[in-house]
Amino acid sequence: MGRAEARHTGESAGFPRLYHEQRGKRTDSPFNRRRKSLSARHGSRLPARIDFVPAVIESVAHAVEQARLATRALVEFGTHLFDPTVRLGITGLSRAGKTVFITALVHGLMRGGCFPVFEALGSGRIAGARLSPQPDDAVPRFDYETHARSLLIERRWPDSTRQISELRVIIDYQSQSGATRTLTLDLIDYPGEWLLDLPLLRQSYEDWSAESLTLSREQPRAQLAQAWHSHLATLDPSAPADEQTAMTAARLFTDYLKACRDDRFAMSLLPPGRFLMPGDLAGSPALTFAPLELSGTDPPPDCSLWAMMRRRYDAYKSVVVRPFFREHFARLDRQIVLVDALAALNAGPAAVRDLERALTAILDCFQIGQRTLLSALVRPRVDKILFAATKADHLHHASHDRLEAILRRMTERAAERADFTGAEIDVIALAAVRATREAQVRRNGEMLPSIIGVPAAGESSGRRLFDGETEVAVFPGDLPADPDTVFRRALDKPGGIRTAGRSPGEADLRFLRVRPPALPPADAEAPALPHIRLDRALQFLLGDRLR
Ligand code: GDP
Repeated sequence: MGRAEARHTGESAGFPRLYHEQRGKRTDSPFNRRRKSLSARHGSRLPARIDFVPAVIESVAHAVEQARLATRALVEFGTHLFDPTVRLGITGLSRAGKTVFITALVHGLMRGGCFPVFEALGSGRIAGARLSPQPDDAVPRFDYETHARSLLIERRWPDSTRQISELRVIIDYQSQSGATRTLTLDLIDYPGEWLLDLPLLRQSYEDWSAESLTLSREQPRAQLAQAWHSHLATLDPSAPADEQTAMTAARLFTDYLKACRDDRFAMSLLPPGRFLMPGDLAGSPALTFAPLELSGTDPPPDCSLWAMMRRRYDAYKSVVVRPFFREHFARLDRQIVLVDALAALNAGPAAVRDLERALTAILDCFQIGQRTLLSALVRPRVDKILFAATKADHLHHASHDRLEAILRRMTERAAERADFTGAEIDVIALAAVRATREAQVRRNGEMLPSIIGVPAAGESSGRRLFDGETEVAVFPGDLPADPDTVFRRALDKPGGIRTAGRSPGEADLRFLRVRPPALPPADAEAPALPHIRLDRALQFLLGDRLR
């Protein structure tokens, strides 16, 4: 990563350039065009998938569940008529930026942040926003106060999302016709890893085992799975069940999944989600299983290791996965999916491919209402989904649109693969908190568009170890102007994105973790946090509900 003397430009000092969308001129997005063309082709019914048909007893349970959900939906609908409410889901894989996003969003709403593109706030129609007790007693509260203190006062990033949490914000506003109104905004923060569990509901233990093993034999996963594979080779699935064996297999399998998440590999598709994000289930038997090498699909011998693993896998689906989708996911109205696309681009082609697969799986979750039997239980009512590439402040503004274009292309490809015809989708590159400034930096006689920030204590570049106080200028590299290049490169063998002047194999765009920005002491009570395009995200997600 290049460092050089910084020479500040006019651009560097203040807030980032805001990219105003020309909403008036906007035509249909490719997703919505595709949705319309598919609907026209198939009428309202899309080609059905073949799904597992539940046994009679499950059908009865299913019908009871349906009735319960229908009643809840009616009650919620009635309540929402008098007290309009938006349940906004915030998800993304671990460290995608969920906690920072929610903290910045709530702070911006309550403080009246600098959000010119968020029309209701920009035009002054929002009178105020305040926190209120959340509706779900069984869900932990999002610890806004602690996170805000970390960001604003201690100048360190808050602790990341480990499990689901919720926060209610009441927004008082004036409608465009002048009437005084209130919108209740429920923010639901949950790990994206849990979303990637949905396909398990359709898979038997045997199918899941086979699929997980096939995936673990692809590179770079294979090298990370060596210890688990070696242990697996010693196991006889028909041997008597043994708790210690199951625990060792589950531990080695979990270690492999964790290694895949490491920044160097940045893999995304790693179910079961609770193995990486156990929430309050760490160590429970429902998480003590792993794939086995199975030949044939015969029923497992009684009391065998295979039977034990299968039973736990089924328990995981019924006590963990299904309740999450039923109780939380199915009740969302809007969704933002945060994506650390830069981490995938940094890690190279395999990570880019994997991210695209994960996006396909995520879109499948929002599709389920349309066409599967299973869907009735977990049908989402989400009508808008925003995919957001986070941490755009690690790039010079010249690359913000490029990052957005890459994620857009990735999402389009995922939507095609998922045959997606559901909610309205948009894509954005943002930084919920802008921790850098911009400058032109001279390097080898060339002026390079760079970013300036304070690397966190303990970060290093080459031999230099940073103390958390020193500001450095970094040339972060360019993203390609043509987003398709990323996918063509993803097919080539080595190397992710490379920038001119870098040797092959040298990772460009690798970024140092910088500290949150220093804020003006004059307004220390509640200084506004700088951001990039957070207001555009809010306009897409909430603009129509605040008219
Ligand atoms: P979560 O696991 O999705 O909750 O992720 P967090 O919100 O905790 O973010 C993980 C890390 O990403 C943080 O500790 C920061 O280092 C970094 N990060 C998140 N959002 C931003 C942002 O807007 N700008 C910058 N520069 N870094 C961010």
